[in-house]
Amino acid sequence: MNQYPDLNTSPRILLGPGPSMVHPRVLRAMAHPLVGHLDPQFVQLMTEVQELLRYVFETENKITFPVSGTGSAGMDAAVCNFVEPGMPVLACVNGYFGGRLCEMASRYGADLTRLDRAWGTVFEPKEIDDALKSKPAKLVMIVMAETSTGALQPLEEIAKIVHNHGALLLVDCVTSLGGMPVKIDETGIDIAYSGTQKCLGVPPGLAPLTVNGRAVEALHVRKTPVPSWYFDITAVEHYWGPERTYHHTAPISMNYALREGLRMVQEEGLEARFKRHHENAELFWNGLKDLGLEPVVEIAYRLPSLTTIKVPEGVDAAQVCSRLLNEYNIEIAGGLGAFKGKIWRVGLMGYSSSRENVVLLLAALDRILNH
Ligand SMILES: *Cc1c(COP(=O)(O)O)cnc(C)c1O
Repeated sequence: MNQYPDLNTSPRILLGPGPSMVHPRVLRAMAHPLVGHLDPQFVQLMTEVQELLRYVFETENKITFPVSGTGSAGMDAAVCNFVEPGMPVLACVNGYFGGRLCEMASRYGADLTRLDRAWGTVFEPKEIDDALKSKPAKLVMIVMAETSTGALQPLEEIAKIVHNHGALLLVDCVTSLGGMPVKIDETGIDIAYSGTQKCLGVPPGLAPLTVNGRAVEALHVRKTPVPSWYFDITAVEHYWGPERTYHHTAPISMNYALREGLRMVQEEGLEARFKRHHENAELFWNGLKDLGLEPVVEIAYRLPSLTTIKVPEGVDAAQVCSRLLNEYNIEIAGGLGAFKGKIWRVGLMGYSSSRENVVLLLAALDRILNH
């Protein structure tokens, strides 16, 4: 007899900032028997995963592959490959994840300029232009979908400005990829990373990364080796590139899952998928109005994948979260950092973004707050 009972978690409706829910097709794909990480069948699967990632990133970038690890591993990989000791870097911070980018860049020795903005707002292109005029940088880092605030950062103008100043643009696409257009090539994003557990609807464990030719050039003129052995793109690219030579063992089952999740993105079609995310978010926002609840972010910059809501006066934010979980099996989250105790965060990402989940959450919130 084993002293520990069989794993028996009660299924949850995951409407927090991630992980989001995973379609049974993706879970079934994960249960496939393992093959070796250099088995011709797996090599074929790697090629397919890369093709599908280019589709969802909307890029032709040759170097496009899933970093082994969660979204933060993608962030670490992006930062450690493109930051060198003493290199001037501009970080745009309007939320928790912008702060994490700074933390990583400083650890790799960046000469960091931090441009801060109120949480829940977005950067104006001119602010970035001014910042680069007063202190030039070689790399500009920004978060597209700030999961801590619910704000969506427009990037087209910013990309042009960054390039006019001869810098590279590094963008966190963790909560955007698969839920809204990221258009890497059209926008002119040089380096981008994401995670599987948000709008792609795949469990946490891989971090899609894409880098363009301009960024690869920067990589090849580095004066110092990339400080992380594991995340060094110049080495990993021989495994995820045409040679397919061993670097580290790819997480086989996670790649099965990612392939299936991406296949589902392709079946649905990008446009239809983005429309679904938007319509369900709007349904939720309208329902909030009926409940007398107010979103944090103005509608023009509000993320379809993650809504932040002001906690009304006199309401215990944490208690509402635990009642949703215990009485309705629904997970949502509270605020991080500056927003702790002040907001709720509701994710409608990937498979979680459905009409029935929205209606259920609104009904549960109504019962908890008004009955
Ligand atoms: C979730 C998230 C991350 C980190 O991803 P993990 O999977 O938790 O490591 C990074 N950036 C943003 C914007 C995120 O939402």
